[in-house]
Amino acid sequence: MRIETKCIQEGYKPKNGEPRVLPIYQSTTYKYDSSEFLGALFDLKEPGHMYTRISNPTVEYVEQKIAALEGGVGAMCTSSGQAASLISILNIAGAGDNFVSFSTIYGGTVNLFAVTMKRIGVEVRFAEPDMSDEEIEALFDGRTRAVFGETIANPALNVLDIERAAAIAHRHGVPLIVDNTFATPIHCRPFEFGADIVIHSTTKYMDGHAIAVGGVIVDSGNFDWTVGGKYPELTEPDESYHGVVYTRDFGKAAYITKARTQLMRDLGSSPSPMGAFLLNLGLETLALRIERHCSNAQKVAEFLANCDKIAWVNYPGLPGNPSYELAKKYLPEGSCGVISFGVKGGRAAAVKFMDSLKLAAIVVHVADARTCVLHPASTTHRQLTDEQLVAAGIGPDLIRMSIGIEHVEDILDDIKQALAQL
Ligand SMILES: *Cc1c(COP(=O)(O)O)cnc(C)c1O
Repeated sequence: MRIETKCIQEGYKPKNGEPRVLPIYQSTTYKYDSSEFLGALFDLKEPGHMYTRISNPTVEYVEQKIAALEGGVGAMCTSSGQAASLISILNIAGAGDNFVSFSTIYGGTVNLFAVTMKRIGVEVRFAEPDMSDEEIEALFDGRTRAVFGETIANPALNVLDIERAAAIAHRHGVPLIVDNTFATPIHCRPFEFGADIVIHSTTKYMDGHAIAVGGVIVDSGNFDWTVGGKYPELTEPDESYHGVVYTRDFGKAAYITKARTQLMRDLGSSPSPMGAFLLNLGLETLALRIERHCSNAQKVAEFLANCDKIAWVNYPGLPGNPSYELAKKYLPEGSCGVISFGVKGGRAAAVKFMDSLKLAAIVVHVADARTCVLHPASTTHRQLTDEQLVAAGIGPDLIRMSIGIEHVEDILDDIKQALAQL
């Protein structure tokens, strides 16, 4: 099946006489014929559902679809993208361990890594994308457990050199974890370039309608956890499951099985069956929507780049963009629907432009069907001075626009009338 078909057909496959559409199994619990069977379930010797905190049929079908879209051996949905990022690291790192992350990542992930993970003893070491391999590798030591990056960074929009990051990680015997939220598996499947684990905030394009917060972790099954003795939690008995050894008993699905049976069991960041149902609806149209998001964004970026009221435009699909060549390699069919740009006249002009938009709404979100805008300097980063904003890489004039799937001429008309007010 091609990826457009997988969006529709993977996951739930009804048998004779069963409902055509994925049912919502709104049940926390499951019924068994014998206590012996339930005992085997608890020892992970039989597959099946124990309790909806750990797994649920509706959620499982959606996980199967996402695993198929990314080309992985298994997936686990979480209650949010933040939970996916947290569990993806905690599954293989504990107090005293560290990991290397590229610095251009989502702000919420920066806080999670640099503040909360630090407090539980897991240290993040940030690498700048323009560092040499040697400079990045100098960040590694014997307790480094993973490398983390975003395919297309939110909001910096730079494209990760996935093959290079994977090569660095693998030279040090650790996996590469990639947040593929902005690219989606429609435009990039990081496993094909050597990434080992993929995560998503499904809240963004996968849901696509801004209706449900969620996340997912996908396991490629390709990383060999048994080499080098760095991951005893995967290669030695788990006493909380009567001595299960994940790599021995679950093979290629060791990482994702442990994430579920240990961390989802203990942390309980599980999605609801209803949330999974809504996510599945979004996934059915993902390929169609991504095509439109990107073709619209490309046209808007080209318009802005040629407009004399615009100071600068950042979009990986524009020739001359620092990520243009990487985008051609990793995202040949298009990057994403998010653009950032500056209007001439700085902070005041940016505010005036935003307030003049009629179709594009001011929203603290990206990547849904409706075109929306955010001016970080007057909202999410409003406590910073102009100098502090520049130091944080967010100019006072920066506007982030998430291009929706409306008719592109209507989006352009709205931008043109707002620019005319300046
Ligand atoms: C939004 C986002 C997250 C966090 O996901 P939530 O679903 O909001 O918890 C993580 N990574 C990226 C790239 C995001 O855009």
